[in-house]
Amino acid sequence: MATKKKLVKKIKIDVDKCNGCRACEVICSALHATPKYSSNNPARSRIRVIRDPLADIFVPVYAGEYTAAECAGRDQYTIDGKQYEECAFCRASCPSRDVFKEPDSGLPLKCDMCESDPSLTEPLCVQWCLAHALTFEQHEELADDRLAVDEADVGLEALANKYGWQTVMDSVARMSRKA
Ligand code: SF4
Ligand code: SF4
Repeated sequence: MATKKKLVKKIKIDVDKCNGCRACEVICSALHATPKYSSNNPARSRIRVIRDPLADIFVPVYAGEYTAAECAGRDQYTIDGKQYEECAFCRASCPSRDVFKEPDSGLPLKCDMCESDPSLTEPLCVQWCLAHALTFEQHEELADDRLAVDEADVGLEALANKYGWQTVMDSVARMSRKA
């Protein structure tokens, strides 16, 4: 098994400091607009703030992995006496809800830690969170090469579910001819 070092990036969330301003959603969706910063639509954001203003609870949730299968079971959360809907705090893009899906194409969204060129010193949602509810940390650790292949498989499978394998393979063939 081949191993090499990889940079692990982490955003720590202090729910008690979040005031529900949604600045993180605005800047994330603007970063991922085409062209960049041309619009902002929270439905395109890779972070969503689950909120109950009456109970004064705001919980930022980051978009995680896509899953083609719905959960067989459901979780029920009660915080400060307020019950939250099933799936409220789940990070996955999945067939059973519209959260963390690109509004135009329906493709799954996943936080990419603001990967861009030139790279940012800190993800934009962290920079824009004036309440300091989000804190960025990074460190190096050993990586398994196979993980990158698994991630590529998941992305291709999501596209194939949406457009069909033949369309995806035609696109890949077209792109490889241009490369
Ligand atoms: S780290 Fe970047 S991509 Fe991820 S939620 Fe924050 S702004 Fe969006
Ligand atoms: S920017 Fe910070 S305080 Fe505002 S909603 Fe996002 S996490 Fe909460």
